[in-house]
Amino acid sequence: MKTQFKAESKKLLDLMINSIYTHKEIFLRELLSNASDAIDKLHFKSLTDSSIESDFSIEINIDKENRTLSISDTGIGMTKDELESNLGTIAKSGSLDFKTANKNDALDIIGQFGVGFYSAFMVADKVTVDTKSCESGDANRWVSEGADGYIIEKSDKQNLGTTVTLHIKKDSDDEKYSEFLDEFTIKRLVKKHSDYLRYPIKMECEHSRKKEGAKDDDENAWETYKTLDTLNSMTPIWKKNKKDLSDEEINQFYKDKFMDFENPAKVIQSKTEGTATYSSMLFVPSIPPFNYYTKDFEKGLQLYSSGVLIMEKCAELLPDYFSFVKGLVDSEDLSLNISRETLQHDRQLKIIAKSLDKKIKNELSSWLKNDRENYEKFFNNFGLQLKYGVYASYGANKDKLKDLLLFKSSNENKLTTIAEYVSRMKEKQQEIYYACGDSVEKISRMPQIESIRDAGYEVLYLTDDIDEFTIKMLNEYDGKKFKNVASGDINLDSDEKSKENEEKIKQHSNLFEIMKEALKDKVSDVKLSNRLKNGAVCLTTSGEMSIEMEKVLNSMPTDHKVKAQRVLEINGNHAIFQKLCDLEETDQDKLKEYAELLYIQAALIEGISPEDPVDFGNKISQIMAK
Ligand code: ADP
Ligand code: MG
Repeated sequence: MKTQFKAESKKLLDLMINSIYTHKEIFLRELLSNASDAIDKLHFKSLTDSSIESDFSIEINIDKENRTLSISDTGIGMTKDELESNLGTIAKSGSLDFKTANKNDALDIIGQFGVGFYSAFMVADKVTVDTKSCESGDANRWVSEGADGYIIEKSDKQNLGTTVTLHIKKDSDDEKYSEFLDEFTIKRLVKKHSDYLRYPIKMECEHSRKKEGAKDDDENAWETYKTLDTLNSMTPIWKKNKKDLSDEEINQFYKDKFMDFENPAKVIQSKTEGTATYSSMLFVPSIPPFNYYTKDFEKGLQLYSSGVLIMEKCAELLPDYFSFVKGLVDSEDLSLNISRETLQHDRQLKIIAKSLDKKIKNELSSWLKNDRENYEKFFNNFGLQLKYGVYASYGANKDKLKDLLLFKSSNENKLTTIAEYVSRMKEKQQEIYYACGDSVEKISRMPQIESIRDAGYEVLYLTDDIDEFTIKMLNEYDGKKFKNVASGDINLDSDEKSKENEEKIKQHSNLFEIMKEALKDKVSDVKLSNRLKNGAVCLTTSGEMSIEMEKVLNSMPTDHKVKAQRVLEINGNHAIFQKLCDLEETDQDKLKEYAELLYIQAALIEGISPEDPVDFGNKISQIMAK
């Protein structure tokens, strides 16, 4: 009786059967990689179970007459239940994103991802799978002619493993399926897609030789004969020399292995000998994984011991600040049956992790130096993680990471390193100025910033929540302290101007006292500003906490709310100041009310809403109506 495919499987299968995808050849790569995975599993088992003996290999057979192509492996095989669940249901890994993809994207998925077993139906109208698992005595056969389901019956297969037989479709006007029954095509495809598989892929190949004693001019001097040849070089791609690898090969490997649509933005390949002997192939993705900045994301590298995969995601190999790196490490120094628990204490693993850490750091540094444009793209994707890295662990890694950071700045609105900022500092400039806000646009219009920028100082524009925490953690760079332009104690004025200001403050000390009293719940001080140019008022802070930090901290889910110490600054050159001075003499109640309104204005500039918007609105309307 025929069993129907599960819905998702059917969808994928339909797509394969009707595929107009031009690179149908990838079906072979998929089936060979399944065969290799199956052998991996048995190989791994054999390490602890000495009763398993096997010649680990894959064999391809072509039968032109019957139009079949078969791929046999000596791997772990499948039980009846496994046949049912593995081939009757869509496999999770390869087709993870398939559900959401529409038809056009689907073509892309076929090409870039590999969709697994069902790709066989791109070239075959019937597929038979004979398999015998080491878990059960009897062999089974799975047969399907496509979308209308499959059957499972007994098989007479003798040895352990799996044979997948494809009944190749007939040639049509625009598709020459027969090429997949051609020895040379198959050889070429194995070389192209599966050369690095660790097990020999064997096939009967035809050769010709001169008959013994035959003369050159003899018409029948040549004879053909067949031998079972190994088609692949079996060197894992990461063990090959860089010069023997094309970019295309590496990119394809990355996409297949690490589930990405895009080529990697950076490949870091190395072989190391010394305290730790290992080969590694690391990749920086071009786009962050969709769940990268969520807690679902799991960092880690694939870990191999002498070519045998022992762990899919070894988190211990990567520090959090480089968690975006994907790739693999292969070392001879690790024992094969290492477990997750023992791993954490493995000395060798720690040494490797340290060495990788350094390698990634150096590679990012030289990327920044030599290919700024692409580094900036990288930084836009993953810079946040580096900034977290500076802040995390009480700043333990800040010195390592500080030169990898980029911030926007008032210097042509470009991204800059801190070192570049410092190199542009004015002669007498002591501090590195920064300003925080939601966007560059908003920051550049902050009243607090005007006079600083006009005086020719560069200001770093911090737009990410984490930025100011990172800067605070750094504390200084090259002996220069960081300074928030919205902190109260910035003084750019000449001595002469400072004196002038002091005079004004003395003269109007009563005015400030009255306003301070009126706002005593809201601000710790009211003062004459030495930074405002056009704006009437602004908020600054005294103490360590800035208003931006207050916002970030208070947006976190805790009951403990923090408050920055606010200072209301008033522009002594603005018409409103004269008005306030007049009110001090004529109407102190009104002065208090104005103080309130000015505070709300200053807070609004910082993006803080009034506590009582209705009251605020009413008062503004009253004033307008006068
Ligand atoms: P994936 O390889 O990504 O898991 P596939 O569609 O290629 O997805 O394969 C589905 C599943 O079928 C595999 O995960 C494996 O369990 C099983 N399978 C496929 N081919 C073989 C094989 N030659 N030997 C044993 N199991 C196999
Ligand atoms: Mg597969």
